[in-house]
Amino acid sequence: MKATRLYEQGAPENLKIEDVPMPEPGPNQVLVKVAAVGICGHDQSDRNGLTRPHVGLPVTIGHEVAGTVTAVGDRVNGFAVGDRVATKQQTHCGECTNCRIGREIQCDRGRLFNYGGWAEYVVLPAPGLLKVPDNIDLKLASVVACAVGTTLNALRNVGEVQPGENVLVTGAGGGLGLHGMQVAKALGGRVVAVTSSPSKVDRLRELGADDVVVAEGRDYWEAIVKATNGGPQVVLDNVGHPDLFSPIFRSLARKARYVFTGQVYREKIDLYPAFLFGKETQIRGAGPGGMADFADSLKLVSEGKVTPVIDPMGLDDAVEANRRLDASSFLGRGVLVP
Ligand SMILES: [Zn+2]
Ligand SMILES: [Zn+2]
Repeated sequence: MKATRLYEQGAPENLKIEDVPMPEPGPNQVLVKVAAVGICGHDQSDRNGLTRPHVGLPVTIGHEVAGTVTAVGDRVNGFAVGDRVATKQQTHCGECTNCRIGREIQCDRGRLFNYGGWAEYVVLPAPGLLKVPDNIDLKLASVVACAVGTTLNALRNVGEVQPGENVLVTGAGGGLGLHGMQVAKALGGRVVAVTSSPSKVDRLRELGADDVVVAEGRDYWEAIVKATNGGPQVVLDNVGHPDLFSPIFRSLARKARYVFTGQVYREKIDLYPAFLFGKETQIRGAGPGGMADFADSLKLVSEGKVTPVIDPMGLDDAVEANRRLDASSFLGRGVLVP
């Protein structure tokens, strides 16, 4: 079967497409014929090594998989050959107390990102799999756990968005931002998108933003206050850059929740503690969602409340797809289709 292989971290051109042996599922794994596999910022870090230098090499990257089960390990219950499935992005054991009570993020055996997805077939651990409802295209299903589930955890569980609240979304044209806007709407929020590209304003409105603020200079906090009628109650920040943080923080409503769920560049933010207690602001962090978030995200997609925005390319185009990832030129989430 065909798979991408990375022997040395670095540029997109370091990815090779090779013929490799078909993997075999272990006792708690299934073999999946990949229908589509997402390309996200985490894959980018694995490839370039800038923030994740310790990936074991050689490696086949790719953790956002949907496809069809073609073989099942001896200890797997609940999945059979022919099932349409999608996976959560990280592993969990499914057996420890934390896993049993829905806290997979605190799994006693730790969590690892799934690997192997940028290929024609991949073995995946059964505890992270869900069946995909018939009315969801597998290409769309591939990105649900990472792109929708992460924002559902960030906005519902961590940000505690209430109906009618103003939700500000940074990096709004990207994979997390576009899905975060839809999730915020599904939770009853009013969405204001922040983008650095004036050319994206109209498209962001079409994709669900109630208002759009262009981040230019440092004074756009006033535009945010105006667009949110007094400041946002919740911020979903998946960029994590000081040029965004300072103006947005200044614009916040009282008792706002500023939720970080991503950082693109390794830069510090500046903060006067007085601004925290003055408005009783809270800064919170949101990691990946659990299985409940994944299941609820599939339900939101099945019900038409969230529509994954994907930008598909062929598996053979993995190098070009990575160039586009580096250039932030995907609208929504890039996916590879073997
Ligand atoms: Zn991902
Ligand atoms: Zn566990």
